[in-house]
Amino acid sequence: MAEFKAALREIPAIDKLLQAAAGDDGFAGLERKAVTEALRAAVDEARKAIMSGGDRDVSIKGILDAARRKLAVMLRPTLRRVINATGVVLHTNLGRAPLSARAQASVVEVMNGYSTLEYDLVTGERGSRYSHIRELICRLTGAEDALAVNNNAAAVVLAVSAVGAGREVIVSRGELVEVGGSFRIPDVISQSGARLVEVGTTNKTHIADYRAAITPDTAALLKVHTSNYRIVGFTAQPDAAELVALGEEFGLPVIEDLGSGTLLPVEAGDWREPSVAERVAAGFSIVTFSGDKLFGAGQAGIIAGKKVYIDKMKKHPLLRAFRIDKLSLASLEGTLIDYAWGNPVCDIPVQRMLRADPEVLKTSAARLAAILKEQAPDWSVRVTPTASPAGGGSLPAVNLAGYGVSVSPRTVSAAAAEIMLRKRDVPVIARIQDNRLLFDVRCLREEDFAEIGLACAEIAKGESM
Ligand SMILES: *Cc1c(COP(=O)(O)O)cnc(C)c1O
Repeated sequence: MAEFKAALREIPAIDKLLQAAAGDDGFAGLERKAVTEALRAAVDEARKAIMSGGDRDVSIKGILDAARRKLAVMLRPTLRRVINATGVVLHTNLGRAPLSARAQASVVEVMNGYSTLEYDLVTGERGSRYSHIRELICRLTGAEDALAVNNNAAAVVLAVSAVGAGREVIVSRGELVEVGGSFRIPDVISQSGARLVEVGTTNKTHIADYRAAITPDTAALLKVHTSNYRIVGFTAQPDAAELVALGEEFGLPVIEDLGSGTLLPVEAGDWREPSVAERVAAGFSIVTFSGDKLFGAGQAGIIAGKKVYIDKMKKHPLLRAFRIDKLSLASLEGTLIDYAWGNPVCDIPVQRMLRADPEVLKTSAARLAAILKEQAPDWSVRVTPTASPAGGGSLPAVNLAGYGVSVSPRTVSAAAAEIMLRKRDVPVIARIQDNRLLFDVRCLREEDFAEIGLACAEIAKGESM
């Protein structure tokens, strides 16, 4: 106990540490309150270490060094960039869609000061935030009118609330979807104040099932994209034309939750994801889809459809609760301009990465492999074919063929190396396959190659110490 006390007394006083920090370049330009907090935390840690019998450098320099490490952590946002080496383009945990250059520029422009968010420059009076995206969505989808909200979950709730509250909404049993984060169609419908009427069976639903379920209380037919699963085998769902015709016969809106709607059709493996324009042309009254899935912008829910229904949504109180914020709106408008007037398959990262030519990916993988062989000469490094899902609830059960580099460190296990990569300042998120570390190149940028090389060099250096 006595020696603890002696050691504890050696810890310098905060005042003295603050003085020392004031004269230390490592703390230059930092707010006093942050420095004080970091010094307190460092002192606290030293005290605890001594009390539990440990050894600690309690010199002024030792405490300042510890405080500097704490400051680095305090000042580093936990929401930060990572390198996505998983090959999954729409990785929900990694923020789904990276933005196009134009979308980024729009966001920066709007976040830097004031904007025309709800200001009409012609009249000098209040304008509508939806005016910035309405025309382009209509032009690109062929819809009469359009709206954007916070996300697609909100879009579905708003659409069903506006047309179906207090009445019945018919959905096929094969489409009672759950997407991640507890979005389940039956719950969404009840939250919207409508009553779910399930028709058909898990594998087969016929148009006659819908017809038989229509009553004077029916408000809408709802079709839901089975974004993250497929029912295969002995199956049937009515096609769009049959559903639309039935809706027209009874004067009912036919809503489609497209999940990850895409403005350009996507063909991958045996799957063809139709464009939103095709669904609008098929006659759906309202379609809703995500802004940050295949569309490739920031988080948003896009609603396109007939003006009568969009008008109902515009008057609905939930629209205010689900309001899209100006930064998301800016990313949406920038991306819409890419689709309308740019070259979307080059300009929009999601579209580009999904369509990447396997041969081009193979060449990239060879370049990365060369870097890794140089940085970690003792490792086994090889170019490997990969198969990765598109992710984010899109292109269900499709694996995109690509290429990556698989490595096996000399002594460190692949699992341990994967953790080390995650813990870096710029974390590298890789996969493990067959006990090897796999860097899929599909979602990598050229500048990421050097960073991955550096990361591997550091792990390799650790092995030889
Ligand atoms: C992803 C998805 C949603 C939710 O969209 P968010 O934009 O993530 O809110 C809703 N429905 C379907 C079918 C989906 O795939």
